[in-house]
Amino acid sequence: MFRTFSTTLLKRLEGKICVVTASSDGIGFAIAKRLGVEGAKIVVSSREQANVDEAVNLLKKQGISDVLGVTCHVAKENDRTKLFDETIKKFGGIDVLVSNAAVNPAVCSVLQSSEEAWDKIFDVNVKASYLLAKEVKPYIIERGGGSIVFISSIGGYQPFDLLGAYSVSKTALFGLTKAASLECVRDNIRVNCVAPGVIETKFSSALYTTEAAKEETLNTIPMRRLGKPDEIGSVVAFLVSDDASFITGECIVAAGGAASRL
Ligand code: NAP
Repeated sequence: MFRTFSTTLLKRLEGKICVVTASSDGIGFAIAKRLGVEGAKIVVSSREQANVDEAVNLLKKQGISDVLGVTCHVAKENDRTKLFDETIKKFGGIDVLVSNAAVNPAVCSVLQSSEEAWDKIFDVNVKASYLLAKEVKPYIIERGGGSIVFISSIGGYQPFDLLGAYSVSKTALFGLTKAASLECVRDNIRVNCVAPGVIETKFSSALYTTEAAKEETLNTIPMRRLGKPDEIGSVVAFLVSDDASFITGECIVAAGGAASRL
């Protein structure tokens, strides 16, 4: 049975400065929370100021005092620049980037996707991830090294029928992880990926809000339960910590045993 983590569990990230995109809710918020609980200085971000403010307040209430909130739509260049500039201004550097934002405007199989939906999915899920990594790299180099994590999906291995283009975009992140990890290895930057299974958030609610949908979803998960956002936060905390110091170019699947082969 799933248990929430203890706030006294570990302090592996003391002094690290971590930027998490799309972190005002869901998995991104849980990642920000876990990294903060482990001692990191946290930058939370998403498109809406009110959501960012609420996330900052929630994190502060949980005893995470070093938190900055910055609005950032990851597909907008000016927003990404502002995200990194404000982080440097407040904390003086960046050690870790978690690229977590994704969209899925098309609920259909891959070849039924419109070109417009395909472009939007690839702009946010893949192109913005590549640009964020490219743009953050010099800052991480200045710190003598660090870590980048891309949030993919179990759908990247086993495409969801009705999330066709989204699933392909998540497969692309496995390739980005491998290629960027090789490029960054000499700069002491580890680049890894997490592929969550179905996690209880707004994004995935169509997969579990009706009994029929939930049953269908659970049939694909050997553990026969949905994951919790905190169960992804803990995987990311491991990957960006020194406990994962010999791991780069890898993808960790956290999906309750769901099929995960390409
Ligand atoms: P969620 O609960 O719907 O949270 C979405 C977050 O993203 C919100 O903070 C939202 O805030 C922000 N956001 C949306 N579009 C954005 C953009 N263009 N730029 C910046 N921020 C943006 O979603 P989630 O389930 O946590 O998903 C997070 C990641 O996990 C995604 O990459 C998703 O593909 C992946 N994932 C999720 C599941 C699952 O079952 N939930 C499974 C596998 C993988 P604003 O509205 O303020 O922007």
